[in-house]
Amino acid sequence: MLIVDAHLDLSWNALQWARDLRRSAYVTRTREAALTTAGRTQNTVCLPEMRKGRVFLSFATTLARCTGTVSDGVDYWSPAQAHAAAMGQIAYYHALEAEGLVRVIGDLDSLNRHVDEWQRWETVAPHTNLLSEGEREPPHGFIISMESADPILAPEHVEQWHAAGVRAIGPAHYGPGRYAGGTGTELGFNEKGVQLLREMERLNIVLDVTHLSDQAFWQALDVYTKPVWASHQNCRALVPHQRQFTDEQIKAVIARGGVLGAAFDIWMLIPNYNRGCSTNKDASLNTVVDHIEHVCQLAGNAKHSGIGSDLDGGFGREQSPHDLDTIADLQRLSELLSHRGFDDEDIAAIMHGNWLRLLRAVWEEQ
Ligand SMILES: [Zn+2]
Repeated sequence: MLIVDAHLDLSWNALQWARDLRRSAYVTRTREAALTTAGRTQNTVCLPEMRKGRVFLSFATTLARCTGTVSDGVDYWSPAQAHAAAMGQIAYYHALEAEGLVRVIGDLDSLNRHVDEWQRWETVAPHTNLLSEGEREPPHGFIISMESADPILAPEHVEQWHAAGVRAIGPAHYGPGRYAGGTGTELGFNEKGVQLLREMERLNIVLDVTHLSDQAFWQALDVYTKPVWASHQNCRALVPHQRQFTDEQIKAVIARGGVLGAAFDIWMLIPNYNRGCSTNKDASLNTVVDHIEHVCQLAGNAKHSGIGSDLDGGFGREQSPHDLDTIADLQRLSELLSHRGFDDEDIAAIMHGNWLRLLRAVWEEQ
């Protein structure tokens, strides 16, 4: 089963945490064995495990903020620093592309070619003798997405980021962003933030509503009129915290034709998780299915739920569902969804089809 993962912080891991994503997760765990920083030594994401798990298309982020609360490798003192960090992260994706490992996807033709190639590879991969001479494994597909718009120096610079490959933007992350309030705030969009949304709409850059404060979320839907998505987003009805969406917010994304990606970070899966104290024993892949099922119940169908694992978002196996070792285990969701009564068509929609439908709808407009 092919999988789309709508949220991976791949370049942040490569550059800010110095992980070589071409190496196996187990090599990286060994290399980090002596580190004591939270989130290190138990990584779950790398290109080989993504291939094993058939994660053939990912929304690959830039992650840099400038909120006034500096933290190492995420939040910077000045917009110029955040700008340079995020541009460097994009340069990493293009460098992997130059090595033939990655395909940066930004339009309908390249998306369709990528899907065709992987569908064929999935069929023949177990029998590599069926590959024609010279036929190679297809590269990983990346759609570049910004988590926090803080690196964009001014709204009129959005075009520059589009030219660099950015096709989706989540305007805020944690805290008071330069354009909008993020998780943990009650701030909306400021004037420049509204201009940013208008510029995104003009350039057909998708609005990722994940991480917006409640105030910013509703304001964004008033200003931005095209389809939206929530790349890595769970349900407040199951985990009561502002980082999760209320049923009303989920219904609003659905009404806009959007898709919500289920996130795997345990504190977003179960209530009362306490980082550094709790273990991961109370959350399994089935807990992820609880969130998927909740979105499907609100929608009345399985057309608006997907995966946005965030598995490399600053944590590792210790803060992931206890029955997950690496990202390759995303494959096991198919069987768990089937046990919940989802049919084959719905399972394929959740694993990849819904994200592909939405991407095609957005890019067909161009
Ligand atoms: Zn996030």
